[in-house]
Amino acid sequence: MRAKMTSSAVLQPALSVVLEALEKIRDSREKPLRISRATLNRLFEQAAPPVAEADVPATPKPGEGGSPARNTDVAAKAAALAHVRERVCVCMKCPHLARTRTQTVFGVGNPDAELMFVGEAPGADEDARGEPFVGRAGQLLTRIIETMGLSRDEVYIANILKCRPDMPRGTPGNRPPTPKEMSTCIGYLIEQIEIIQPRVLVALGATAVEGLLETRGAMRQLRGTWHSYHDTPLMITYHPSYLLRNQSPGEKRKVWEDMIAVLEKLDRPISERQRSYFL
Ligand code: URA
Repeated sequence: MRAKMTSSAVLQPALSVVLEALEKIRDSREKPLRISRATLNRLFEQAAPPVAEADVPATPKPGEGGSPARNTDVAAKAAALAHVRERVCVCMKCPHLARTRTQTVFGVGNPDAELMFVGEAPGADEDARGEPFVGRAGQLLTRIIETMGLSRDEVYIANILKCRPDMPRGTPGNRPPTPKEMSTCIGYLIEQIEIIQPRVLVALGATAVEGLLETRGAMRQLRGTWHSYHDTPLMITYHPSYLLRNQSPGEKRKVWEDMIAVLEKLDRPISERQRSYFL
């Protein structure tokens, strides 16, 4: 037993070095390595030092909640997300965006969230703060989340793009990501979803729909109905910036109805006040 512990203690750092080298080769475009990201992540988990028992959350007893198929090991999820974040931080796959960004904007919230919101791309405020949805649209999203009886810490929020789309000098506002930028960056979001395994996804606006479902369509037709992202229920709704541009109570009410449907899907209690609420 002692011999086994000593050899794993010696081998772990060596294995980490080998894995980091494999990861660099896999992610560089010159010499693609035939190893899937999922396999690489599993190897990283093997190489990670054992988590102290006190850090591991208690496994829920039957009937205490949590779908049996859903991995709820928060520490493992946080570690796996940290690995992805490290790669995103130094990503140079879109050199024009790497040059103009202040920093990458990875995602925020609970690594074990049951509910995950997906937006488009960071704007100026997010680029400055390094956190998604912190500007005006973000404040509205936060209000929606809180009116649902949740907090930003309980859910997870991420974007299709991790860098702010660059703007021609002197131009105010934001531009939507190009198809090339989206296809280059989407792998990171896919990894985030695979790690978090949310029970429900919400796509905020057309870019999120295009990134997740590879589909384009009129938002008024897509929103308000259940779609599926690799077997995870996906609700499509309007982007909060659309609501900021279009202040009509009817459009706001539609987003709120979509969120009520999300709460029902998550088996969350819904008060009469929430049911009759207008954003
Ligand atoms: N809009 C988005 O889609 N994402 C953000 O993070 C902020 C605004």
